[in-house]
Amino acid sequence: MTLAANLGYPRLGAKRELKWALESYWAGKTKAADLLQTAKALRLEHWKLQQTAGIDVIPSNDFSLYDHVLDTTMMIGAIPARYAKLEKPTDLDLYFAMARGTQQGATNFAAMEMTKWFDTNYHYIVPEIEKDQTYRLASAKVVDEFNEAQAAGIHTRPVLLGPVSYLLLSKSTSTDGVPLNTLAKLIPVYVEVLQRLAAAGADWVQMDEPCLALDLDEAARKAYADAYNQLGQVANLRLLVATYFGGLEDNLELAVGLPVYGLHVDLVRAPQQLDHVLAQLPAEKTLSLGVVDGRNVWRTDLDAALQKVQTAVIALGAERVQIAPSCSLTFSPQDLDLETKLDDELKSWLAFARQKLDELALLKKAVSGGVESAAESFKVSRAALQSRRESLRTHNPQVRQRLEAVSDSMLNRAHDFETRKSAQAQKLGLPPLPTTTIGSFPQTPEVRAQRSAKNKGSLTQAQYDEFLKTEIARTIQKQEELGLDVLVHGEFERTDMVEYFGERMTGIAFTQNGWVQSYGSRAVRPPIIFGDVARPEPMTVDWSAYAQSLTKKPVKGMLTGPVTILEWSFVRDDQPRALTCRQLALAIRDEVLDLERAGIGIIQIDEPAFREGFPLRKAEQNDYLQWAIESFKLSASGVQDETQIHTHMCYAEFDHIIEAIGRMDADVISIEASRSKMELLDAFKQYQYPGEIGPGIYDIHSPNIPAQAEMEDLLAKAAQVVPNDRLWVNPDCGLKTRQWEQVLPALTNMVNAAQAVRQQLKV
Ligand code: GLN
Ligand code: ZN
Repeated sequence: MTLAANLGYPRLGAKRELKWALESYWAGKTKAADLLQTAKALRLEHWKLQQTAGIDVIPSNDFSLYDHVLDTTMMIGAIPARYAKLEKPTDLDLYFAMARGTQQGATNFAAMEMTKWFDTNYHYIVPEIEKDQTYRLASAKVVDEFNEAQAAGIHTRPVLLGPVSYLLLSKSTSTDGVPLNTLAKLIPVYVEVLQRLAAAGADWVQMDEPCLALDLDEAARKAYADAYNQLGQVANLRLLVATYFGGLEDNLELAVGLPVYGLHVDLVRAPQQLDHVLAQLPAEKTLSLGVVDGRNVWRTDLDAALQKVQTAVIALGAERVQIAPSCSLTFSPQDLDLETKLDDELKSWLAFARQKLDELALLKKAVSGGVESAAESFKVSRAALQSRRESLRTHNPQVRQRLEAVSDSMLNRAHDFETRKSAQAQKLGLPPLPTTTIGSFPQTPEVRAQRSAKNKGSLTQAQYDEFLKTEIARTIQKQEELGLDVLVHGEFERTDMVEYFGERMTGIAFTQNGWVQSYGSRAVRPPIIFGDVARPEPMTVDWSAYAQSLTKKPVKGMLTGPVTILEWSFVRDDQPRALTCRQLALAIRDEVLDLERAGIGIIQIDEPAFREGFPLRKAEQNDYLQWAIESFKLSASGVQDETQIHTHMCYAEFDHIIEAIGRMDADVISIEASRSKMELLDAFKQYQYPGEIGPGIYDIHSPNIPAQAEMEDLLAKAAQVVPNDRLWVNPDCGLKTRQWEQVLPALTNMVNAAQAVRQQLKV
């Protein structure tokens, strides 16, 4: 019989129970036992609800107190040496010290680095592998949780992050070390874990090897063969190698050939691979079909999914096929039933993790009993799909017409950078090495209190607007006093740089409880771009114009760019991402032009997520850059020569795509650089960036107040590779998470540093 299988379930709990339990434990308000009790209750609840939904293959060890990669690090005992000096930590304290850093007496134990998990918005803790790293079985979490489920009467399929992906996702602590070279030492630990699972009664284990969907070199391919030749031999246990986030492509032969009992493939991201996999899968192997999107919020097209499953059943026989989500459901919000404010039509188009379980069970039913056996549910699903296809909310003829009418000239500024530069110099009259900030000023408790008072209705809109105006006026005055050259209004009206714009556009919806884990206890609630996007009215013009009315210095208008809105949202899957991005770009373009008309001479279009959209496979990267750059240019290019367009980027390394960023043709880019001590600038030695650049010289992620000398150094370094007439002076990012007591002295030092370096350079 064909089984319904799940690869992983969201960990935090529908009401983010784990978040609250973690945070109160960290704050010392509750004991370890309380935290562990909450965690245990969540695991049980999630197993039970999968069972109730009719899932046959239920995962265990998909739960984590912080991160599954960190769990793996604990399992294999790859604890970085610096934590050996922690005094008598419990396992739990050690774990959280690695995740978050800790302070003991005067000693600071830095956290391990965190980075994005493939192209998701989930962040994992990067393992640190020493050159002569040794491994030992140091945590039996996976066995314990398997046993825990058994005790509750639920037989699970434990999940492990496979050894090859683990090492490929690690970094080496020595310059010439290669984590993968330690594989031979790591495999015995995995063998031991698998043996213990087999002894505990597990019959299958899901080995996550998402790196099989990446470009692999020879060493990595060989590592896969070596690893699974040994792991596949553990007696009385069957391994399913799970791949996701892309197609196997040139790794197909390698993947199907691994000596294991099963393979999972992602048929949402790579539907075309099904035929190839079916053609090459060795007899007897089980194939798990990822047909329900684990990373997005849309209701599954059950007929299309069923067809894939039936194709596989015909080719392999029902017993060898499993029906699964494309990847773990941990990337989906948890439960659509908790949404009381979304309208019914929109809701009918969606499926969150819980609903996706029902879809898996339905598909299973239809495979064995025919569609008739689930006729009613299929009917409802078809009707929802049809309403989504035909609704004017998804197909707004006006937006479509505008999009059709986009001409090449709309994608480019009228004149080249040099021409614009002199027009802007004349209009703006800025000093050399102009100083500015990235946009936001501190979101103080008061700002938040006023906003929530407005939301609760105890403050009228007019009162709230008055409050915002006072904040803006105060911030303008402070910036004047600091002697900054280009001012900002401070972004006090925004909770979040995507939410603020999303709420003012049609075609975008917001959930109340659609939380998705970002890292540790942190979760985000991405907007849902469900339909054609338009901007009915100006979104920021009043605030910027008001700020500008208070000063003779230029005020920079602040917008979030189309690529970033796209990247930080759940995006509709019924048209290419590129097209949705273009619609967003048109909406932002409208705003840019309205700002210009209102007398704003400098407009910044933030694209912090520009790097995040990068496809995992090299072959697809150029295509992405092409449309992402084009969208940015569409949003920015309508303005006159003398209007200066800025962009801003952070949260990633941009060195190797700096040429592509140059093609965005912004007049000025501010970019995060201070934490890496200006490593970014190496890129500019080879490549003459066409516009002006402000490499951040003030690390705003730290509460520290950088000294003037420190910033002078960074600026002097920058001045060695960036021509004097193209260098800007600014922090790394927005100041919203900082306090005024930190920001004022830090910016004073920054302005003085700029002054000093201007003198040194005699500009
Ligand atoms: N303008 C935004 C701010 O200052 C930019 C934020 C970001 O880059 N993440 O807050
Ligand atoms: Zn930033």
